[in-house]
Amino acid sequence: MSQVENEPSFHASVNLMVDRAIAVMDLEPGVATAIKTCNAVLQVQFPVKIRGKIEVFTGWRAVHSNHRLPVKGGIRFAPYADQDEVEALASLMTFKCAIVDVPFGGSKGALMIDPARYERDEMQQITRRFTLELVRKGFLGPSTNVPAPDVGTGPREMAWIADTYKHLHPEDINYVACVTGKPVHHGGINGRVEATGRGVQYAIREFFRHAEDVSTAGLTPGLEGKRIIVQGLGNVGYHAAKFLSEEDGAKIIAVIERDGALLQDDGIDIENLRQHMIEHRTVKDFPGARFVEDGKRVLEEDCDILVPAALEAQVTLENAPRIQAKLIVEAANGPLTFGADEILNRKGTVIIPDAYANAGGVTVSYFEWIRNISHIRFGRMQRRHDEQRGAELARMIEQVSCNRVGDEQKDSISRGADELDLVRSGLDDTMRLAYQEIRETLQGDDRIRDLRTAAYVSSIRKIARSYLDVGVY
Ligand code: GLU
Repeated sequence: MSQVENEPSFHASVNLMVDRAIAVMDLEPGVATAIKTCNAVLQVQFPVKIRGKIEVFTGWRAVHSNHRLPVKGGIRFAPYADQDEVEALASLMTFKCAIVDVPFGGSKGALMIDPARYERDEMQQITRRFTLELVRKGFLGPSTNVPAPDVGTGPREMAWIADTYKHLHPEDINYVACVTGKPVHHGGINGRVEATGRGVQYAIREFFRHAEDVSTAGLTPGLEGKRIIVQGLGNVGYHAAKFLSEEDGAKIIAVIERDGALLQDDGIDIENLRQHMIEHRTVKDFPGARFVEDGKRVLEEDCDILVPAALEAQVTLENAPRIQAKLIVEAANGPLTFGADEILNRKGTVIIPDAYANAGGVTVSYFEWIRNISHIRFGRMQRRHDEQRGAELARMIEQVSCNRVGDEQKDSISRGADELDLVRSGLDDTMRLAYQEIRETLQGDDRIRDLRTAAYVSSIRKIARSYLDVGVY
């Protein structure tokens, strides 16, 4: 799937992007090679009896860099999965974690399967069997390797993984931290489901706070009214599109899905479209919007911002010259091939790269992991205390000013933060700081021309520091 004719593989494409960053750094060549190398790949094949017949499944877990432990990254379930893709995605995880200062190494897993062909119980059986393989081979555990959801997996699969690990290691007090993205009632954290989409929103908001960057992209100030095309209305694309349109006043003028695209100049109502898709399993016949069969062509439509939130290699050497968006925000992993990236950079298109733009997921996974190993919900100790202090403050203001503080204001002063408030605040802070670091890197060296190279330079510096500090043995 990730292989595009006449273009490097996904993994090679990521490596070329990393090389572009290494070329402007004074890194010892050995360190550069050590950073680029994928440390370990496990391939497993295991039989499962389905409807009376034995089927053999193939899965992988790649560990790109364990300079920090645990290593972290999703597990995808897809019929097109392969080792090259898993290695590419694992290396993206290493850089992603470093960019947003999440203290994990990079990993990724995949199972070659079409989940649509199986019943729920069968999926459970297969997921548990895959987990067994990963745990037994040392590729899954709360302190070593912690998976999360990705394409084709979600909280349901994560709960099965955690439960399987628990049965294998009942003595491990931190068993629930062996995977993130779990349902909230099974040790998950509020805000994880929408975290990647939320992170995309926060990344775009931060971009728009920098007038210089907005004008470099040829955009007018302010996110309100911006015309956005979103590819993929899965978990990431749906949440990003929903938040950007409902909270920031942007217009989603097109949504591209597997079976075609919808266009609507005055903006698509994302919540209605989502309901339509759940009901009809297609974007076709959505009232008020124009349907186009050849969805991929819509990537080339005129817009302010293009948000590819589907799969890798969507913008290639072939269609990159025709892309009209001024700003591309990579919500998916690897949606642009290396060649496409070069063409768009030359055209002056500003690209907010995947390893930063979609890092909201792993950031909130980090919060979930901390919650799990500390065995307490965020806000549990201080919420009511903050509430009392706030109420006291409101009373004092009333006394000093001899004026009544309105009920709404009183509520907002005295409200203690709950877990979701804290997760959002932590995510927002993370996305803001990471963007500021990337743009400082970009501005600090005129050999760096684009945000992706800047993001890689900044993350490679951090990873290299950890190699140099600790040494190699
Ligand atoms: N699968 C997500 C990603 O590609 C999340 C990884 C995680 O939370 O560990 O970033």
